[in-house]
Amino acid sequence: MAKDSESLNFIEQIVEQDLAAGLPKEQLRFRFPPEPNGYLHIGHAASICLNFGLGERYNAPVNLRFDDTNPTKEEQEYVDAIKHDIEWLGFQWATECYSSDYFQQLYDWAIELIKSGKAYVDKQSAEAMAEQKGTPTSPGVESPHRNQSVEENLDLFQRMKAGEFEPGTHILRAKIDMASPNMLMRDPLLYRIVKKAHHRTGNDWCIYPMYDWTHGQSDYLESISHSICTLEFKSHRELYDWFLDQIADPDRLRPKQREFARRNLSYTVMSKRKLLELVQSKTVSGWDDPRMPTISGLRRRGYTPESIRKFSEVSGITKRDSVTDVSLLEFCIREDLNKNATRVMGVLDPVKLIITNYPEGKVEMLTAENNPEIENSGTHEVPFSRELYIEKEDFKESAGNKFFRLSIGKEVRLKNAYIIKAESVVKDNAGNIIEIHCTCDLDSRSGSGTESSERKVKGTLHWVSIQHAVKAEIREYDRLFFDEAPDSYSDRNFMEFVNPESLKIVETAFVEPFLQEAKLDDKFQFQRLGYFTLDKEAQAGQLIFNKTVGLKDSWAKQQPQAEQQKQPAAQQNQSQHQGQRSAINEIQKISKKYTNLSGDKLETARTNIAKLAEEVAYEELEPLFNTAAKKVGTRIGVMIALGVLLKKGQERNAAIEAFIEAGLQDSNELLVEEAKGIE
Ligand code: ATP
Ligand code: MG
Repeated sequence: MAKDSESLNFIEQIVEQDLAAGLPKEQLRFRFPPEPNGYLHIGHAASICLNFGLGERYNAPVNLRFDDTNPTKEEQEYVDAIKHDIEWLGFQWATECYSSDYFQQLYDWAIELIKSGKAYVDKQSAEAMAEQKGTPTSPGVESPHRNQSVEENLDLFQRMKAGEFEPGTHILRAKIDMASPNMLMRDPLLYRIVKKAHHRTGNDWCIYPMYDWTHGQSDYLESISHSICTLEFKSHRELYDWFLDQIADPDRLRPKQREFARRNLSYTVMSKRKLLELVQSKTVSGWDDPRMPTISGLRRRGYTPESIRKFSEVSGITKRDSVTDVSLLEFCIREDLNKNATRVMGVLDPVKLIITNYPEGKVEMLTAENNPEIENSGTHEVPFSRELYIEKEDFKESAGNKFFRLSIGKEVRLKNAYIIKAESVVKDNAGNIIEIHCTCDLDSRSGSGTESSERKVKGTLHWVSIQHAVKAEIREYDRLFFDEAPDSYSDRNFMEFVNPESLKIVETAFVEPFLQEAKLDDKFQFQRLGYFTLDKEAQAGQLIFNKTVGLKDSWAKQQPQAEQQKQPAAQQNQSQHQGQRSAINEIQKISKKYTNLSGDKLETARTNIAKLAEEVAYEELEPLFNTAAKKVGTRIGVMIALGVLLKKGQERNAAIEAFIEAGLQDSNELLVEEAKGIE
């Protein structure tokens, strides 16, 4: 089981270091903290596999904690779906926890903060407070309520709790530092008034704690040793620690927050808000529509837990945002199904084929191997008769040497059956082929051991016996979006990129009778067509199959997958729109045009870059130090962002010094100025 240290991901390395520094192994404890405001998606699977993977690796408990602090968006339906998905992925949590179980404790701590002069009730409008917030480069302005007496704050907060005030009129804020370079430390919000019943606490509360005030304290209460979250929380870490400084008992385990990059997937969107929009607008049939990147959608599509876990493993855990190509996910399921799916036959676009020398009324039960990849996978019977369906596209009246399927005068093998030769066709008035007449080498039956049965012919076709064929509906899916990164455009809505042809329904396909026994979750390879699974809407007498994935990658990329998904998004693709989901990409976009700007516009661009830089991790920025000298706009943007990071405490290193030095030497005045500012 033990991995050598080189194959540890960086989170595992952090844990190893903590153990080496004396943290007792028994104190390791992790959690997965979903907000029950939507279904889990493939991005969440990264976090689930990471946290539960740590639990497995260190034999440590992993809590499932519902982060349920916002009653306007949370529902029991989501709680149930989340639990089901995690179990389906094959993980078991130690304790099922809810942030709402800590509401009273959080409230008590808030009272203590007020008493010690570290929190106050603000009555200003949201706009006024936003204005006072300042910018990353200029300090904020203190609220006129900041120095209210403790008594007044206690009175107001208790009245907030009692429901005396309307939403938006009063909030509780921590009193930290309005000049902090970290905007989140500028007197952040602790409580707001929300007059809505909570799915668990009902109407007990009309004030609800904010995420920042809840998360670390919940970790602390549950004795979580490592609280692992995604990069956008990096700048929240200072606040996480500040709150713990106020409430934590020095003798108790103090949780530590560490961040890793979100998993993004090409050709889809991943935020629950956007997925909800797809559901509510009926663009898809529900959260579990097989085109959705949700765990439940993937399950319905035919993905297995193993394939999703495998995908998490090969995509890895990184410190930088990147977009993983969806073809890697498809690769993982294809591998799994190739090993495990039962081989069957079905014809999606049928044309009738008659074997003229095969006796009328005769039926043979032929033997089909269930899975050539698995020893002893067994066999099942397939009925064969004189009249069959084959795929229309498997026949051409006359064809060149490269067509290895059926044409007049040529031979092919019918899978598990005989070698046939096409002799003639019958057409309707419009000239469409409605029957193909063939003769059959009656000695050539597969597996019969005769000389003819060993004969090699170029092509093998799948087929079904018309008399025995069972009707089935087939649902084939294409990508839900036709753009690689549909939510990366600042000027266009992701909904504009919905692929109108993402669902194709074949109402009447014909499948072999063995499939009448198909059960939900069974996995099939329809020979030569792809992998399929029964849909939950199927009923007795009405088969419906979802196509999980084709046999080959029809969207194959020139760039090798493994290489592509390991690169940071910033370098991954030169195209304008790839991966612009993160702040760093947004900075690059603004920077590109930076040198064309002047006056107010230049000032605004600068402010925006600095604001965005708040969300950027140094690991994301460093690769951009290598930006070509002629892309001076980008270099300026990076310099501005670097300034913000340094102010926030980023340590100087050789790469930083070199980048600043190069800036100072540059011929562009703007760049020199920015470099001087942080020299
Ligand atoms: P979304 O933006 O999709 O609504 P979220 O972060 O608000 O996601 P939560 O329910 O808060 O969703 O997420 C639960 C956990 O899963 C958090 O720890 C979060 O960091 C992690 N997570 C969410 N999305 C991703 C992702 N794309 N990649 C990796 N981890 C993720
Ligand atoms: Mg969240």
